Amino acid sequence: MKRVRILVFNAALGVLDYRVPEGMAIEFGSVVIAPLGPRQVLGIVWEPDRLSAQDVPESKLRPLLEVLPVPPLPERLRRLIEWTADYYCTSLSSVARMALGSMAALRGGGTTTEYRLTGQEPARLTPQRAAALDALQGEQASIKELADRASVSEGVLRGMVGAGLLEPVVVDLDRRYPPARPEHAEPTLSEGQQAAADIFVEAVNDRKFAPFLLDGVTGSGKTETYFEAVAEALRLGRQVLVLLPEIALTENFLRRFEHRFGVPPILWHSSLKSSERRRAWRAIVAGEAQVVVGARSALFLPYAELGLIVVDEAHEVSFKQDDGVRYNARDVAVMRAKFEAIPVVLASATPALESMQLAEAGVYRKIDLPARFGGAQLPDIQILDLRQEPPERGKWLAPRLVEEMKARLARGEQSLLFLNRRGYAPLTLCRQCGYRFQCPHCTAWLVEHRFSQRLACHHCGHEVPVPDACPECGTGDCLVACGPGVERIADEVAEVLPEARVALVTSDTMNTAEAVGEFVAKAEGKAIDVIVGTQLVTKGYHFPDLTLVGVVDADLGLEGGDLRAAERTYQQVAQVAGRAGRGEKPGEVLIQTRHPEASVISALAAGDRDAFYAAEIEARRDANAPPFGRWAAIIVSSEDQSEAKAAARAIGGTAPNHPDMLVLGPAPAPLSLLRGRHRFRLLINARRSAELQKTLRDWLEPLQFPRGVRVNIDIDPYSF
Ligand code: ADP
Ligand code: ZN
Repeated sequence: MKRVRILVFNAALGVLDYRVPEGMAIEFGSVVIAPLGPRQVLGIVWEPDRLSAQDVPESKLRPLLEVLPVPPLPERLRRLIEWTADYYCTSLSSVARMALGSMAALRGGGTTTEYRLTGQEPARLTPQRAAALDALQGEQASIKELADRASVSEGVLRGMVGAGLLEPVVVDLDRRYPPARPEHAEPTLSEGQQAAADIFVEAVNDRKFAPFLLDGVTGSGKTETYFEAVAEALRLGRQVLVLLPEIALTENFLRRFEHRFGVPPILWHSSLKSSERRRAWRAIVAGEAQVVVGARSALFLPYAELGLIVVDEAHEVSFKQDDGVRYNARDVAVMRAKFEAIPVVLASATPALESMQLAEAGVYRKIDLPARFGGAQLPDIQILDLRQEPPERGKWLAPRLVEEMKARLARGEQSLLFLNRRGYAPLTLCRQCGYRFQCPHCTAWLVEHRFSQRLACHHCGHEVPVPDACPECGTGDCLVACGPGVERIADEVAEVLPEARVALVTSDTMNTAEAVGEFVAKAEGKAIDVIVGTQLVTKGYHFPDLTLVGVVDADLGLEGGDLRAAERTYQQVAQVAGRAGRGEKPGEVLIQTRHPEASVISALAAGDRDAFYAAEIEARRDANAPPFGRWAAIIVSSEDQSEAKAAARAIGGTAPNHPDMLVLGPAPAPLSLLRGRHRFRLLINARRSAELQKTLRDWLEPLQFPRGVRVNIDIDPYSF
């Protein structure tokens, strides 16, 4: 009889021992089905000396039920899973789950059935069927996915299958992806690009852990440079993972990739349909998927033979996951490269302060691309002091900015206005009684969206139609919008430049690949004069005729006292400024601010990035903040406010007396109500020397809380 240790997919139970029945062949990393009470659970065979389990006598061990026909998780991935769970103080199974990606992919054969419309249009239809016919044009997916898409029940769709309106299509999940061609369209690199590319290519060949920080100004051609390393990995038959921050916006990247390598890369993100997910997962484990472009979750997949990881726009905040497993994909990418013994390239025009510091300390090798490709000049950045040059009452664009936009329009050039706020107005109130529309589930105002005629919470998604009258005093037609969102700025542009063709670029308007593609085609075809957008427009785009960027409110990000506020403002403004003057015509940037004296604003105007980073690094050192000291947050939440508060107090009351650790709080979290849960927070500031994770575990693990209480640990938190 053989005893095995299994990491079971059940966060509460974690690790259990089982018996391997006669004739079952397993090894470490095998994915198995095990009995758990009356149920069956998924599990992974783990090295017994690495995980402890309850000591169950041999005679009581239950037998494993089945080994799934997929390759075992490689040892280097098991080590990464352990590291991640340990570092972020979370359960192994919640991390391992991301490696398996698609549970459905594990079982069953190489085909699945999807459905699509047959094209038949009967004369009489129920309203639901008519709606489905309308919504499902051109779609092909599982019944469940189609039902979601069309907002009808699965039963309605099954009825439509019976009536011959929908037909089944068998999808082959092992269909090959066409191979990428490293020699398809090789660019002629600039001298600087070539030097950088040579270093990356050599590193790919070396097959050793080698972290790089590719620091190149916007438009310097970072992508072409790391594409050479991708090409080398392809020649060697190794897989490549490229992480992008906003996978919905990869349109531009995908086109460039296809242009360079002849085929699109394989995508991995949360909105793939199940068949795409299953097909991609199978190709990834089989080693057949060559280049995977993904959101952060692609980091944990069981690549057969990874040869290179690239994290593009590596400074992006969205690489930090803020629920579930709270990890930073940039940091985990470096760890994965370490376990795989391969190079990792972090590319950015505005690297995170932590990355800069690690490069300075010699941990990362810094590769610079200081000039724009093709001799394009960096734009001229000017400050527009709103106290000196105020916009008209109830308007947001200063006269000088409007004049510059008019001049661009007259010359047939494009302008871009950046404001990182979706919707029409961030706050709506009643003129009569002062009532403010607030989310019932969160500590947040409802944001008016004229586009959809709704008031929406940007934290939980709660939405209501814009009412005709105030719900408090009943006065009709009394609502006033306070402050601007991008929709309001777009309206203002339409007023001051009535002949301009305006495009609104926010996650509300760019919610499909088609919408993004259409926008890019129009902007490139000069069918757009003014782009108004949120942070979605700050990166990736290359419009040669865009010569003016207006930052509507540079002070917005500085509110709130966030640790990274200045850094983030610097990054956002520098990135959006980088959209200007990328072609032959020079670019100009106007930054509207009420605080021209703020160090981040003056650094932007002076183009003095090094001085800004140096000052920030000193400020962080003084505050014992990352990358010097460390922060962790403990978030305690419950639907019952007093229960959450009591639990937070209990945690605060048992705080260890550690000389290298300072415990602040508990206090109400910044979003003290989120999705119906009351939240309290403790902040821990620790010296590097403190064993932060171990101290946290020793402190929190013995504590018991009522069932409704959730305690989440956030290591290196982003939102303070
Ligand atoms: P970054 O990512 O550094 O901002 P990009 O990689 O987007 O810069 O490059 C800027 C522009 O220059 C892109 O349109 C790109 O296609 C072009 N470019 C960069 N390098 C080359 C090259 N070697 N040959 C031709 N075009 C290039
Ligand atoms: Zn809400």
